[in-house]
Amino acid sequence: MFEARLVFQDGGVLDVAVNADETLAEAAQRLDLPTRQDCLSGECGACIARHTSGDIESDPTELLTQEERREGLALTCQTRLASNAAFELDYPLTPAPTAANRYDATVTAVDQLNGTTSRLRLLLSDADDLWFAPGQYVRLRPPGLRVARPYSISSTPADLPSIELLIRHVPGGAVSGWLEASAAPGQVVRLQAPLGGFARDDRSDRQIFIGGGTGLAPLLSMIQASDASTGRRLLCFGCSTPTDLFHIETLRALQAARTDLEVRIAVMSGEVDGIAKGTAVDLLRPEDLEAGCAVHLCGPPMMVTAAQSFLRQHDVPARAIRSERFSLRA
Ligand SMILES: Cc1cc2nc3c(=O)[nH]c(=O)nc-3n(C[C@H](O)[C@H](O)[C@H](O)COP(=O)(O)OP(=O)(O)OC[C@H]3O[C@@H](n4cnc5c(N)ncnc54)[C@H](O)[C@@H]3O)c2cc1C
Repeated sequence: MFEARLVFQDGGVLDVAVNADETLAEAAQRLDLPTRQDCLSGECGACIARHTSGDIESDPTELLTQEERREGLALTCQTRLASNAAFELDYPLTPAPTAANRYDATVTAVDQLNGTTSRLRLLLSDADDLWFAPGQYVRLRPPGLRVARPYSISSTPADLPSIELLIRHVPGGAVSGWLEASAAPGQVVRLQAPLGGFARDDRSDRQIFIGGGTGLAPLLSMIQASDASTGRRLLCFGCSTPTDLFHIETLRALQAARTDLEVRIAVMSGEVDGIAKGTAVDLLRPEDLEAGCAVHLCGPPMMVTAAQSFLRQHDVPARAIRSERFSLRA
């Protein structure tokens, strides 16, 4: 067993005992540390850290270039210790999201936003201790179901103890079936929260958010919880067809209310007045990707992969890209 010293952006320090058969991220998860890690498979970039001393063994990953590895960047979910070692993390130790806990929550509204998307509003009980970082998700188990599914929180910590979720109905899906057939105000659901390591990158004051479908949810939370008086923000939101579009007026109102925010919306097929044709990634212009920008991606895995390769082709470094994939099975 070796020890990893984690030095956070605010100077906070944690010393972590890491077993020989586990990665640094696995050790952090085992010990419930307030570090960011998510997919644990080297794909999402949530757990990138800078290795500053000691010996490590890191599995190759396409997320980091050779140059970034030489600079010391490492994915902690792919990193084992070969001696005591130290790492720098680019986010503060405090305030940290609370450890994941289980809560009862009462459904206060189920709003059908279009034929395939619902907004679910929940009021949590006994959640005075709960605090989440915008970008995190909950695991939701409806009454009578044995399964729980992950959904990102689209509301902000200031809205607690209420939370809001944006849910796309998946044909044949268990939670989707509940939403379509029997979800109603007054029902009590079970939640595990907060979960996940997707979080806004506040090192940069040029923040770009790219969301596909209900991938908008965590981005909406990040944007609404940010300080409108600092920084410049761009949201590119895309849906497949005109009937998949939702929250258009909400986004236009948000843009009108904030001087820091520009919203661009696209649909891949069909024609809609005032909406561009193409994907969320097509909405980006080369001049948007200025040096030092931070990009946040969320949506179906194919969209996130396409956006990542587009950004890398345009020289956006891996450490500037954070992502969350809405895979069906998680
Ligand atoms: C971190 C994270 C955050 C997410 N956040 C959101 C969000 O904010 N909004 C959102 O809309 N989605 C989100 N997702 C995706 C969401 O969790 C899935 O869409 C959800 O799990 C679907 O649940 P379901 O119970 O309706 O469908 P499931 O029951 O999981 O079924 C999904 C699909 O698999 C098929 N299937 C089911 N069982 C089987 C089986 N035994 N064999 C083969 N196929 C099967 C179903 O027919 C269906 O097509 C997120 C995913 C992750 C990983």
